[in-house]
Order: sequence, then structure tokens, then C-alpha cells
Amino acid sequence: MRVGDFELHLLVASRMKFDGGLVFGVVPKVVWERHKPADENNLVEMACVGMVVRSGGRVILCETGIGAKLDQKRARQVALREPEGALLALRRLGIRPDEVDVVLSTHLHWDHAGGFTRRSEGGRVEVTFPRAKHFVQRTEWDFALDCDPRSRAAYLEDDFVPVADAGLVEFVDGDAEVLPGVELRLTGGHTPGNQVVVFRSGELAVAMTGDLIGTRPHLRRAWNSGGDLDVVRALAEKGRLLDEAAAHRWLLVLGHETEQPAGYVSRAGEWTPEPALPLG
Ligand SMILES: [Zn+2]
Repeated sequence: MRVGDFELHLLVASRMKFDGGLVFGVVPKVVWERHKPADENNLVEMACVGMVVRSGGRVILCETGIGAKLDQKRARQVALREPEGALLALRRLGIRPDEVDVVLSTHLHWDHAGGFTRRSEGGRVEVTFPRAKHFVQRTEWDFALDCDPRSRAAYLEDDFVPVADAGLVEFVDGDAEVLPGVELRLTGGHTPGNQVVVFRSGELAVAMTGDLIGTRPHLRRAWNSGGDLDVVRALAEKGRLLDEAAAHRWLLVLGHETEQPAGYVSRAGEWTPEPALPLG
């Protein structure tokens, strides 16, 4: 699909299952289960939604998913499938990893930054996209290396430290336009350096929401991810994004939605999927 100057391809970067409590926080299970059924272990089906964007001769990958480095125990716990879906999607588009110019991610949790690196046949961890600039909020980077006890399991240094060692991290402080029309908006909330990625062309815009709006049930203004560190801030930033998206008919791409993650939201909160941007 084309949106102004941008050619968009939606992709599944990985598939997994998360505990319903982590996904929906304090929302009672009897309520969220009507929208997202859980299996016998209380796990709900999730996707890591990514996007390949072409613009001005550049290739941008937004969200890389989990990748294939996860240890077996954890991979089993989350029923990991298609760990390197982003690489598969790029291959289908005829794009080699060394042809990716920019890698963006909403934050550095393992299910978003895992695909930044991979294990070579010799077992060494190496960068997946050896020519790409990886734009990272400095607050997110600092927190990932020195976080609270609860967040510790969510940041895996092998995902992102090798990228800095290779000289491929570009630090960002707050809101920034990193390429023409490509904006990073610092939101915080889910993590201190959480950001939303917005592609703008004239009046048109596409926003990758990451965990700020993970799934369609999370379009509700009072619902948030159970993993949010600053709930009040996450809800305020989500409200702002929903207002803007509804007023200007922005295309939203929800970070973990398994069914038609790209669509439009009305002022009343109704969701209309964009049929020209299917997942896969
Ligand atoms: Zn996530």
C-alpha cells in the first residue's frame, strides 16, 4: 500500500502467546476474555507486528520481533513461532539484510528488539542489519542497562549491546525527525523511553503504536498493557494519539494485534481495518 511518499508492507515479525494478565493488567478476565479468548493456561495469541517502509530510495524496518536467540525454556513458555518473520518478509520483498538502511523499534524489550541481532553458525551474536542505523531513545537505552527488578527479564543485552558495539546506534533525545517525514515521538508509559513511530506525508500519516495500543481491545481509553510501568502516562499518551488519529484519519498499526492490525479509529473509538494492508 502507498501512503503519500511511503510504500508500506505489513509483516508478522514473530508470533507468541502471553499471559492474559500481562496483556490486560487490571481489567477483569471475565471482561477481556470476551474480546480475546485465553487457552487452558490463560495464554492469549499475540503477534509482533512490523512494517517495511520504502521511501526516497531507502529501506526502513520498523519493529524486528523476537528473533531466534531466545533460550528454549522461554521460547516454549511463550509458544514462540516465526521468530525471524521480519527476515522472511524482507526476503519475499527481495531485500537483503544489508540493504536495510534504518531499523526502528518502539522500545528495547526482547519482543521488539530481539531481531536486532542473531546468532551466527559459530554461536557468536552479530547484528542482523549490518548497514542500518538503529535509532534509540537515550532514556530507553540507559534504562535497559539499569532498570527496576521487574523490568530486568524484559531486556536482554545481547539484543542491543552488539548493535552499539558495531557503531550502529544513533541516540535520540525526545521527539525527533530522523528521516524526511519519519518522526519518533517519545511517549514513555510502557517503558521510560517508549516511542511511537509516525510516517508523515502531507496530510497523511501512519503511526506504529507498539505497546501503547497493543491489540484492538486496547483501543479502549481505560485499558492498558499490564506491563506498563507508568500507567497514567501511558493512558494519557494513548488518548492523545487516538484523538489525533481520529481527527486526521491517521492509519494506525497496532503492535501486537493478530487480526488486521492496520486501520482507522473514529472519535467514538470504532475500528475500521484497512483492507489494502493485510498482515503477512
Ligand atoms: Zn511488546
